[in-house]
Amino acid sequence: MNVMPDHRLRIVKPGVLSMWCPGCMKAHHFDVHALNHDGKAIGWDGDHARPTVEPTLSFDGCEFLLRAGTLYFLSNCTHSLVGQTVPLPHFPLP
Ligand SMILES: [Zn+2]
Repeated sequence: MNVMPDHRLRIVKPGVLSMWCPGCMKAHHFDVHALNHDGKAIGWDGDHARPTVEPTLSFDGCEFLLRAGTLYFLSNCTHSLVGQTVPLPHFPLP
């Protein structure tokens, strides 16, 4: 049995990461060098398995904190996981 590294974040290209969002049921991409919707620089701690990304990330109808591999969906999300705390999942198998 192969033991695959526990990579829940994917590097799309240098500085751009991708994660699977269980609320939107799709991948979100974000640029770790960019500013978020509040004008704050996005920071990632470099951990692929239990990442922390700050500050909050916001996508269309989806806003969350990602701390130590746990997603904290904020109350303004429009999907079914609004207000919930869930582990960051792996990407689904193709
Ligand atoms: Zn989402």
